[in-house]
Amino acid sequence: MKTVDSFRIHNIKCWPEPFAALERGDKTCEVRKNDRNYRVGDVLVINEYYPDATFVTGCTLTMLVTHITTGFGLPGGLVVMSVRPVKLKDMRCESCGRLSHGYDDAHTHCEDCL
Ligand SMILES: [Zn+2]
Repeated sequence: MKTVDSFRIHNIKCWPEPFAALERGDKTCEVRKNDRNYRVGDVLVINEYYPDATFVTGCTLTMLVTHITTGFGLPGGLVVMSVRPVKLKDMRCESCGRLSHGYDDAHTHCEDCL
């Protein structure tokens, strides 16, 4: 995976079954509509979600996007993201110094500086 200068954190929802598969490590991809301009190096904060109850359970997974596939017969606008667990740590925003998040050698910009 290439090193990224900055990345974004995407809060997304996920149904219980695929959430559990991600948590077990059986599922290592996410298929999504690319309405957020996902990029390699971005982080997905995946919130377990019961569609019938329309609430989140409070369980989350933090996954790093290591690869993105588009095309190959995928309907337009869909992406397949390869993901692996990652731990976020507190880091300063590169631009303004406000407390933000990072991982490994990557660092982020706060919402205001992106
Ligand atoms: Zn900032």
